[in-house]
Amino acid sequence: MITVRVPAKVNVQLGVGGLRADGFHDLANVFFAVALGDEVTATAGAPGSGVTLACTGPDADQVPLDGSNLAARAARLLAARHGIEADVHLAIAKAIPVAGGMAGGSADGAAALVACDALWGLDTPLPVLLELAAELGSDVPFALLGGVALGRGRGELLEPLPVAGSFHWVFAVAEGGLSTPAVFRECDRLREADGTGSGADRVPTPDPSAELLAALAAGDPVALAEALSNDLQQAALSLRPELADCLRAGLEAGALAGLVSGSGPTCAFLAKDAAGAEAVAEALAASGTCRAAHPTHGPVPGARPLDTVGPAAAV
Ligand code: ATP
Repeated sequence: MITVRVPAKVNVQLGVGGLRADGFHDLANVFFAVALGDEVTATAGAPGSGVTLACTGPDADQVPLDGSNLAARAARLLAARHGIEADVHLAIAKAIPVAGGMAGGSADGAAALVACDALWGLDTPLPVLLELAAELGSDVPFALLGGVALGRGRGELLEPLPVAGSFHWVFAVAEGGLSTPAVFRECDRLREADGTGSGADRVPTPDPSAELLAALAAGDPVALAEALSNDLQQAALSLRPELADCLRAGLEAGALAGLVSGSGPTCAFLAKDAAGAEAVAEALAASGTCRAAHPTHGPVPGARPLDTVGPAAAV
């Protein structure tokens, strides 16, 4: 039995270019891994059992337990790559909000790759795991790496970035999720409606912000707060206008800055320090503008086994 812990992500910059002919957008995407995360436990299945799944946690009823689950797809992809049978039970302990803009499904895919690789004794080299991760989805490679990284292309071409120290965050979880493709479509619709246009010929390819990279390298939360940006925020707010109340409540509670996490609807708040994050989380939980508020920190490493010795140590 192998248990792997995997982080959620917040995009400290999400620059969205124009709509490409292949339906994707070019992104300048700075991923930041936070300690709020899922755990995936892989247990050997009987020969011929295939991949079986279970999920626990507050959002467990929203997680598909069929072959479409990213953890199941990851296990099958890894097994196929090595020409072996994917006989494994995957138990997902889910803390990352589902369809929350924190790449929870991608995280479980990355965790399943690492867990099955260890369980089956495959020792797959990291570049191959990253290739399989990119096949599963644009956000999966980052969940393997963790830390802070610049993602180009669809987000799958990753370059780790230097960061000093630790930053303190609060994540305000909303009722219900938002579909990432629907938020990108709304972003395109708003760009058409305001006359900008949505095509790759009209919207310049975004670049990473020099101020943001400097703030990360300096470990400066005040400078990072000023540099945070998310080109999907307006679209998420257009689909969920009540998120503005949550963003306001976090700022009133003393957060340095607040932004929609990825495609939303989770809102992320940067705090000055750990005590500041506790205070913001308490105020948000009492504000009635979100379902729950979690203080956390980052950056943290990507998907890693808790222990590879045995069940007692893995608990
Ligand atoms: P992203 O930020 O990468 O766009 P997200 O965090 O908004 O994604 P996810 O939590 O990854 O969204 O869920 C998106 C959809 O993926 C869910 O509605 C669900 O149908 C599907 N899904 C597949 N596998 C999983 C999984 N292991 N956990 C959660 N959702 C999953």
